[in-house]
Amino acid sequence: MDFAWTEEQERLHDEACRFAEERLNPLLAERGRQAYFSREEWRLCAEWGLVGLSIPERLGGRGLDALTVAHTVEGFSRGCHDTGLVFAVCAHLFAVAMPIAEHAGDELAAEVLPRLASGEWIGANAITEAEAGSDVFALSCRALRDGDSYRLTGEKSFVTNGPVADCLLVYASTEPKHGYMGISAFVVDADAPGVVRGEHFDKIGLTGTPVSTIRFEDCPVPESRRVGAEGAGASIFSGSMEWERACLFAQYLGVMARQLDDVVAFAKQRRQFGKPIARQQSVAHRIADMKLRLDVGRLLLHRACWMKSQGMPATLEVALSKIAVSEGAVQSGLDAIHLFGGLGVQEQSGVGWALRDAIPSRIFSGTSEIQRDLVARGLGL
Ligand SMILES: Cc1cc2nc3c(=O)[nH]c(=O)nc-3n(C[C@H](O)[C@H](O)[C@H](O)COP(=O)(O)OP(=O)(O)OC[C@H]3O[C@@H](n4cnc5c(N)ncnc54)[C@H](O)[C@@H]3O)c2cc1C
Repeated sequence: MDFAWTEEQERLHDEACRFAEERLNPLLAERGRQAYFSREEWRLCAEWGLVGLSIPERLGGRGLDALTVAHTVEGFSRGCHDTGLVFAVCAHLFAVAMPIAEHAGDELAAEVLPRLASGEWIGANAITEAEAGSDVFALSCRALRDGDSYRLTGEKSFVTNGPVADCLLVYASTEPKHGYMGISAFVVDADAPGVVRGEHFDKIGLTGTPVSTIRFEDCPVPESRRVGAEGAGASIFSGSMEWERACLFAQYLGVMARQLDDVVAFAKQRRQFGKPIARQQSVAHRIADMKLRLDVGRLLLHRACWMKSQGMPATLEVALSKIAVSEGAVQSGLDAIHLFGGLGVQEQSGVGWALRDAIPSRIFSGTSEIQRDLVARGLGL
């Protein structure tokens, strides 16, 4: 086993971190964390190459493998003061661009991916419905054949980037009686006739990312916009979730790494009872546990990404890493607030954001219970 990063991987991590600190954070400070990311922020991320890290080079991306992408995302997130922006970029890349890169025909890939990689288009993934959450393939959204096209009807209930997206990757049932094998994936222009975006809704965390419902009212979609074969949608979606659960979650490693630096510095400087609070064993142990959680999550995530990079099946390993990182990020978010004491709960200290941004991570990309089901299934249970 080789745990060393190459010089190139280290450079990408450090430069992504520095880019966020120097180019993005001043803009984020101006807009504030309650506002959504701007096109200018997206353009800067695209210029650096962040929105196309794993898209093949011939289609305008940087063509990086999963492990290198994860290390770069960690650096980006460590430097970036708005995890909502990092989340928006990662959702676009892993849940939209990667399934298209891996499954679309050459013509569709050549039409869509250079635009997603260059930042001209923002992508959004639309599968979840009001009655199809964890039971994700119980879709009532239908794509009915109409000659050499389809007509889409139905409503998606939780679409990250939905309010600002140019391009939607939509999953719909083409043959309800075939269940898992009856779902297909389509690339839909967000301004196509029959696409109706709902109101943005507020979230407790990841507030920099806009989210909305999206309704399809008899929306025409040419057959050439179908990704992969008819009936392959569920399998395409499952593959995209492996990208997301593995590489997107590196954003929480970046947050936990920054948080650890902050709590160590604070515990050394804050004095009570005549000495730094770091000299209280229970304080130091709480911080040691934060380091343990970060490294456990990191090692599991790197193993999962390495297996993906080797082309090995990694469903169980990806699920384990998703559980460790998301649950670790929530617990460390709580610990950070506790260590900062009263300051931790003051809005202006900003300490609470890591927890607010972490809470949704146990839910999106499949909840912790669904991940444990995948682990159990992998064990033959
Ligand atoms: C920040 C955020 C961003 C998102 N972005 C997108 C997006 O871009 N596109 C998209 O399509 N969707 C998106 N989603 C939706 C997300 O995928 C769903 O919220 C998630 O799959 C859970 O579905 P649900 O909310 O309907 O909860 P439910 O499935 O109703 O679950 C409610 C509770 O019941 C539990 N539960 C359900 N079934 C079982 C079971 N079999 N065993 C044990 N427990 C169970 C769950 O674990 C959970 O605790 C996003 C969600 C969040 C929070």
